Amino acid sequence: MKKIDEILNGVSCMAIAGHVRPDGDCIGSCLGLYQYLRDNRPEIQADVYLEDPRPEFSYLPGFSEVKTSCEEKEYDLVVLLDVSSEERIGVAAPLLAKAGKTICIDHHVTNTEYCEINHVEPDASSACEVLFGLLEEEKISEPCAEALYTGIVTDSGVFQYSSTSPHTMRVAAALMEKGVPFTRIIEDAFFKKTYVQNQIMGRTIMESIMLLDQRCIVGYVRKKDMDFYGVTPKDMDGIVNQLQNTRGVEVAIFLYEIGVQEYKVSMRSNGKVDVARVASYFGGGGHVKAAGCTMQGSVFDVVNSLTLDIERQLQE
Ligand code: AMP
Ligand code: MN
Ligand code: MN
Repeated sequence: MKKIDEILNGVSCMAIAGHVRPDGDCIGSCLGLYQYLRDNRPEIQADVYLEDPRPEFSYLPGFSEVKTSCEEKEYDLVVLLDVSSEERIGVAAPLLAKAGKTICIDHHVTNTEYCEINHVEPDASSACEVLFGLLEEEKISEPCAEALYTGIVTDSGVFQYSSTSPHTMRVAAALMEKGVPFTRIIEDAFFKKTYVQNQIMGRTIMESIMLLDQRCIVGYVRKKDMDFYGVTPKDMDGIVNQLQNTRGVEVAIFLYEIGVQEYKVSMRSNGKVDVARVASYFGGGGHVKAAGCTMQGSVFDVVNSLTLDIERQLQE
């Protein structure tokens, strides 16, 4: 794909959008591009659409201007960031059909290439890293750099996951040169939790179970427990990673109830098991070491279905 500036020629109004339950990479890439446009292409009227963005990212530029519901508008261009498939587009889904042109900028191996232009780099740590490569470095301002740094830090687990490459570090270094307050960003975007977030994590770990010869750990949260603590899906971040931090565990599974007998599933693997394969089988997707899907049934049904393939893969 050409640099974004070339694609923007002739565009007078555009939409930028991310995926359902947007994470730091999704919010960071959307607001990073938004800021880049405000800095360099003020003649373009741009709107950002994100579903209910989390307050911990409120330090990002343009956060208060995010639209959380869709408007009946025809855009010259719609850019989807960090969105692997059409079903994962959040509030902006209706805009696609009416758009002059659609572009997807992503890093998921499972990307279904649903746009006219699909720029997918499956080896990149984050959509923010991919987006950085499409921008003119000298035109990136400090606020834009903060947004991109946020996405890289959150999606790479603070440069820990195997998707972190020397290139990731070079991009992070270039953003650091712009003067981003990296200590504060890492704290705010990744480590800091509210008291109830810590409570629900503690409880989930306490009640977790080990399966498949202690090689698989399962944690789950029921709707009634979520109500008891007053937590919502966005408070569940990091729980699956903490489960995965158990010595000897190959795969961590975390479920929380999003409807009656309906669970959001998150899986993490050390690499022996391809959890994207497991998630894809149940209509989800993701990466080899981090994937997710939504499943129906009781906790028992869901875990049983998931562990069938995990067990097979552990034996391969
Ligand atoms: P999560 O466990 O939600 O943090 O997601 C881990 C990875 O799997 C992320 O890269 C997500 O984009 C992807 N993922 C999670 N849920 C789904 C889903 N329902 N469909 C496709 N990809 C998903
Ligand atoms: Mn994401
Ligand atoms: Mn991402």
